[in-house]
Amino acid sequence: MTSSTIAPESPPAPVPALAPKTDIKSLTKEELTRWFGQQGLQAYRASQVMRWIYLKQAENFDAMTDISKKTRLLLNENFSFSLPETRHVAVSADGSRKFLFSLADGNYVETVLIPEKDHYTLCISTQVGCAMGCRFCMTAASGLIRNLKQAEILNQVLGAAGPAGEDKPLRNIVLMGMGEPLANYDNVIRALGIITDSDDGLQFSTRRVTLSTSGIVPRLQDLGRDAKINLAVSLNATDNKTRSRLMPVNAKYPLEQLIQACADYPLAPRNKITFEYILIKNINDTPEDARRLAGLLRPVKAKINLIPFNPHPASDFERPSESRVLAFQRILHDKGYTAVIRYSKGQDISAACGQLAGQKADAKTGCPGPQ
Ligand code: SAH
Ligand code: SF4
Repeated sequence: MTSSTIAPESPPAPVPALAPKTDIKSLTKEELTRWFGQQGLQAYRASQVMRWIYLKQAENFDAMTDISKKTRLLLNENFSFSLPETRHVAVSADGSRKFLFSLADGNYVETVLIPEKDHYTLCISTQVGCAMGCRFCMTAASGLIRNLKQAEILNQVLGAAGPAGEDKPLRNIVLMGMGEPLANYDNVIRALGIITDSDDGLQFSTRRVTLSTSGIVPRLQDLGRDAKINLAVSLNATDNKTRSRLMPVNAKYPLEQLIQACADYPLAPRNKITFEYILIKNINDTPEDARRLAGLLRPVKAKINLIPFNPHPASDFERPSESRVLAFQRILHDKGYTAVIRYSKGQDISAACGQLAGQKADAKTGCPGPQ
């Protein structure tokens, strides 16, 4: 006869907290290759996995049919696999499309797909909000909420590339959406590494990727070393007083330092730095401003984009008249500069430069927000 004893009821053992898995899209190629090596797997397997993620746009590890089941299991155990979560797409009368992507923590980020003649340009964001406080910019109104992770930067490209590719290729990427890219330096450089990886990454030509900055001078030097992409600088004024008023970053890195850093920036032969100049009525749009701008940029290989101010609810500034804009352009032309007037697209859906706010409920886009 057996006697059974009933164990006194004891509380269940605590389940050890699992460390969150690393998102595979937040690794560089070098890191993934190293990981494969540590698992005793061949390096070319890392390339294979990257090609599934970025070229074939697989949605999970199990879709990677030429990777062994055992390796896929190992990948599933060690990494998460984030996907772009499109919350809303607003389509402008001019054909541009604004994507609102939801992030895992409930924040939102905006990305704008702009049709050109035979290709698309994608304007991506690098931060949720922005800390730089420029007085003309809607993104500044929220302040900085947080930096985007490498994966969140890449998922904007992956999320827009499919819809874009239906009629013409997505060929250009501009880092000109929400945020200051040089204030999220490491994640931006890591994402750019994948975007411009011509073997296993997204395969964008470095000549077709442009980073726009408000002018964090010490980072310009780093950028020249770490990425061989095009540079755009938001200038917006020709004297320190006006620029500091419009862009607080100028108090820290005034025009002399910024222009010197631009003159020192390593450019590919025949390449130029694009200077963006928002024309704001009665603030920076006089003929004297145009002449001062021409003088200021002399030491730099420069071209100029003139952007008539895009009005938005967070600013009282106004757009100058068209004749004023044309007069400004003519002076720059006469001084020998290429100066293009850019009326940014997507105004009717708040997708134009400086209008991105990453709001979940946006009256202009008709995005209903959470139900
Ligand atoms: N933070 C970076 C990139 C994002 S801003 C930068 O400042 O360069 C992208 C561009 O939008 C900048 O050139 C900025 O000057 C421009 N911009 C911001 N607000 C604008 C507005 N209301 N109208 C027109 N252009 C604007
Ligand atoms: Fe930030 Fe650029 Fe807007 Fe300035 S213009 S607040 S740097 S996003």
